[in-house]
Amino acid sequence: METLRQEFDFQTLRTNGIKVNYLYVCERKLWFFDRGIQMESKSDKVLMGKLLSEYSYPAEEKRELLIDNLINIDIVGDDQIREVKYSNRLAHADRIQLLYYLYYLKQIGIEKKGIINYPKMRKREEITLTPEAEREVEEALVRVREIVSMEKPPELKKKPYCTKCAYFEFCWS
Ligand code: SF4
Repeated sequence: METLRQEFDFQTLRTNGIKVNYLYVCERKLWFFDRGIQMESKSDKVLMGKLLSEYSYPAEEKRELLIDNLINIDIVGDDQIREVKYSNRLAHADRIQLLYYLYYLKQIGIEKKGIINYPKMRKREEITLTPEAEREVEEALVRVREIVSMEKPPELKKKPYCTKCAYFEFCWS
């Protein structure tokens, strides 16, 4: 772990927040997305997520923040950032994505807490960038680089959510 810390180069390994999310969803999905095979914009669930993000918190002052064309934070408050998600089915991927955002902000001198809102389920999860979480983000960024550098997509493995995945036809037809 210490070796990774010493060799870690954020400027080289920083990447799109969605890729960090997809690493935890499916490495193959990450590879497709990186190759420009992007089908999620047609997905009803992504559209629902966008609508929830826009209309779930009407009383709250919202500021979206896009940094370096890599991370796009739903809501930026004084001491916290928030992501709004359609469901918590992929909560582990939502968590690493928000940890990455917190990590990215820290690299540019901004420290905040993170909150993931699941308005449809009336749930929220608080996310803190601990030293252990920072190491997890760094390992994720190294792994993202490894996956997208592969010449062929990672081996096909059935996931419980494959039938709901935008890349289902690429994998299983
Ligand atoms: S269909 Fe399944 S294996 Fe294929 S990219 Fe989606 S989640 Fe991954």
